[in-house]
Amino acid sequence: MKLFCLAGPFIWSLASASLSPSPSTTGSSISTPSGNVQITKNEQCACRKLTQSFGRSVILPGQKNYTQQIVDDYWDIRAVLSPACYPGSNNIDDGVLVALSGLDSYQVHNDTIDVGPGLTWYDVYKALAPYRRAAIGGRLKTIGVPGLALIGGFHYFNNKYGYAMDNVVSYDVVLGNGTQVVASNVSHPDLFWALKGGANNYGIVTKFTLNTFDLPQITTSIQVFNETYFPSFFEAMCHSASVDEKDPIAAGMIATVAYNATTKVASASLLGVQEGVSNPPSQFANFTKIPATRRINNVTTLSQWAETLDSPKQMFRTGWANAQDDLRVEAWARQLTEHLHSINREKGLASEFIYMGDDGEWQDPYAGFPYENVQRMRDIRAAYDPKGIFSTLNWGGFKLGL
Ligand SMILES: Cc1cc2nc3c(=O)[nH]c(=O)nc-3n(C[C@H](O)[C@H](O)[C@H](O)COP(=O)(O)OP(=O)(O)OC[C@H]3O[C@@H](n4cnc5c(N)ncnc54)[C@H](O)[C@@H]3O)c2cc1C
Repeated sequence: MKLFCLAGPFIWSLASASLSPSPSTTGSSISTPSGNVQITKNEQCACRKLTQSFGRSVILPGQKNYTQQIVDDYWDIRAVLSPACYPGSNNIDDGVLVALSGLDSYQVHNDTIDVGPGLTWYDVYKALAPYRRAAIGGRLKTIGVPGLALIGGFHYFNNKYGYAMDNVVSYDVVLGNGTQVVASNVSHPDLFWALKGGANNYGIVTKFTLNTFDLPQITTSIQVFNETYFPSFFEAMCHSASVDEKDPIAAGMIATVAYNATTKVASASLLGVQEGVSNPPSQFANFTKIPATRRINNVTTLSQWAETLDSPKQMFRTGWANAQDDLRVEAWARQLTEHLHSINREKGLASEFIYMGDDGEWQDPYAGFPYENVQRMRDIRAAYDPKGIFSTLNWGGFKLGL
């Protein structure tokens, strides 16, 4: 496990859980095996304690890996906090960031896999590939296991296998009082229920046990259509929502309509994935009937497919260059979302459910949960975290509220 002590301009990282002799601490500087580091008063207490406990594992500002850890480990360039950045994301100024990238081991069993929170879904798919099995997780290469296993988890195959969190058999959790429990159907079942959607409101999950499925091969389909065929494209999309209700074949898609402001050309595209080796994939037959400008079908494995779907870390702020425009872009996104939502409401088409993985910082995913469920989740939180460690001291992520 890594612990980052994010302290104002300083970031400390405990690079592994291995304990080593305590460094000495004096005045406003901390003496470590790699030299003295000055700290300011806000961060003195927590950082001093962490340094005393974890000693040699502490990575300090200016040391090897320090910059790399900060730059490489975030999706969103805005999450690398500096005084100009937003509060409330999964990072913090003047506080401690617990980074779990060192908990990256796994163990494959007959029909489950134990996974550390430091792994990505691609790591999981790769680990299972030799056994011709797969888990239900993220669609792109770089998505982490914990988020999806705690908040939902959209995969191409949700129609047959459920969400990523539906396939968590147990969570090993470190609670706010420092004890560790296993939450499953038979052990702390209330906590097990609450963690599915509970995100980081209850503790730190150090191990996930996940169901795996016999999924040796998949078929993928990439199809692109010009504007003339948009009506057929939308029809095919609507139809695909109802093709497989009785005896589902696992299949899902990402359907996109895009407008290129430079070329002034609009196009629609399908990125479809289906279990098995049916080629062209049967579940996308309604798309395959439409004349396409590009059509590529391929039989592959989930891990090979995920490998091709890389996304750069620090991917956000790609449409605008300057940090000072972040707020303007966020305000625009918010207004557009609210405008479209109000149109849908007027037409009676709106759903108040907001997927936590795609929530804006200004949105509240729990407002879309059934009220009685949120109340029950709060009661369970009161039982497992009576001091509110994960509500009041851990600011990142979406909170259940009072
Ligand atoms: C490029 C991209 C592609 C995406 N694709 C998909 C997709 O295919 N399917 C999908 O469902 N979503 C997708 N998402 C959204 C995704 O659900 C969220 O980004 C999610 O937060 C990712 O989880 P993570 O573990 O990587 O993130 P993190 O930000 O690390 O974690 C998410 C939340 O869980 C908490 N948390 C993390 N680790 C632990 C732990 N060990 N114990 C307790 N709490 C913990 C964090 O504090 C945070 O609140 C995508 C996002 C991006 C940027």
